Amino acid sequence: MKGLCILGSTGSIGLSTLDVVARHPDQYRIVALTAHRDVERMAAQCQRYRPDFAVMADEEAARRLREKLSDDAKAPEILGGEEALAQVAALESVEVVMAAIVGAAGLLPILAAARAGKRILLANKEALVVAGALLLSEVEKNGAQLLPIDSEHNAIFQCLPADFQGDLGAVGVARILLTASGGPFLDYPLEQLSQVTPDQACAHPNWDMGRKISVDSATMMNKGLELIEACWLFSAKPEQIQILIHPQSIVHSLVQYQDGSVLAQLGNPDMRTPIAHALAWPHRIVSGVPPLDLFSADPLVFRPVEPDRFPCLELAYRAAEMGGAAPVVLNAANEVAVAAFLSEQIRFTEIPVLVNRTLEKLGSAEIAEDDLDALLAIDQQARAFAKQLMV
Ligand code: NAD
Ligand code: MG
Repeated sequence: MKGLCILGSTGSIGLSTLDVVARHPDQYRIVALTAHRDVERMAAQCQRYRPDFAVMADEEAARRLREKLSDDAKAPEILGGEEALAQVAALESVEVVMAAIVGAAGLLPILAAARAGKRILLANKEALVVAGALLLSEVEKNGAQLLPIDSEHNAIFQCLPADFQGDLGAVGVARILLTASGGPFLDYPLEQLSQVTPDQACAHPNWDMGRKISVDSATMMNKGLELIEACWLFSAKPEQIQILIHPQSIVHSLVQYQDGSVLAQLGNPDMRTPIAHALAWPHRIVSGVPPLDLFSADPLVFRPVEPDRFPCLELAYRAAEMGGAAPVVLNAANEVAVAAFLSEQIRFTEIPVLVNRTLEKLGSAEIAEDDLDALLAIDQQARAFAKQLMV
């Protein structure tokens, strides 16, 4: 039995993870579940999955959860606060940590899991964007494992040789082809983009995801963050990665080899496939995803990205090339801008404007990439600057 900690169990990836795990009660045991504030859903998960620990990052929510489960004799130990996230991610009884918190808020518990030598299933791409060098060195130093859950990166991982050690040239890779759906506004009239609502931006044509990543998909900042994520995971340079629009979201990414071969991973757009893959790797388990039916699937189409439609992508390329503080600043400004758009404080088209101005101001700040305090400080500085641009 493998002990599992799910960071962000009440979110979209958290729910998909629980769905896969519930199909294999003989193989996985839920040791800890964590969430931010969603007490109702966490209470239901505690009653259904009977973890040893439940953590609410918000202390007040932890108090409400304790109250709600006060009559339940089998209630878990309930902890509150950010430090408790790191504490449960490093528990001795935990072997696998699903990192499914959204945003840089997920970084510290992931670092704790790395330092404790866990198998980390990484959905939380922002953590790698913010602290790629530091996280990879902690993984390496402590014998931890980092397996990609992001569907594209999981696909690339599957298309690389099993003994890939971080040198793309040595295994004959010419380039990585990273697919993008293009989101809900792929063919939307450009001049009307400034008027779109949060609900329109979150209505993704193929994937059902949390609201932050849904907006990122609509701006294609998601692909930009994924570009940086791929550079870290596969020791790639930005120019070794080509982004292509594939509106059907069936080919989850491809690897092109020097001999002309192109390997792809295909499947229905359902995150339970990469989750099951990484959970069981190097074995395969049932995920609950229906088999792909190529006869009934829409024709597979590929097209180049229209840069004017997706300015966030160019900003991410710039940050990837700059390195250092730039990806931290890009991510922080984007988190602030997306939250402001979701609460209808700014327009959709203001997201790249805000990110660009923050990147110009703070992107070249000198920092040591493996200095956590410096990374967190520049993250805070970028958030404060981006917020102040909106007043
Ligand atoms: P979501 O918003 O549905 O869920 C986020 C989870 O994190 C929730 O459980 C929430 O309670 C918790 N959380 C939020 N803020 C927190 C904080 N400050 N402290 C502690 N916990 C907090 O998001 P999601 O769609 O499940 O995405 C999670 C991560 O996975 C993101 O980084 C996203 O980019 C990545 N991802 C998601 C998908 C997808 O299909 N949803 C696909 C690929 C990658
Ligand atoms: Mg993805």
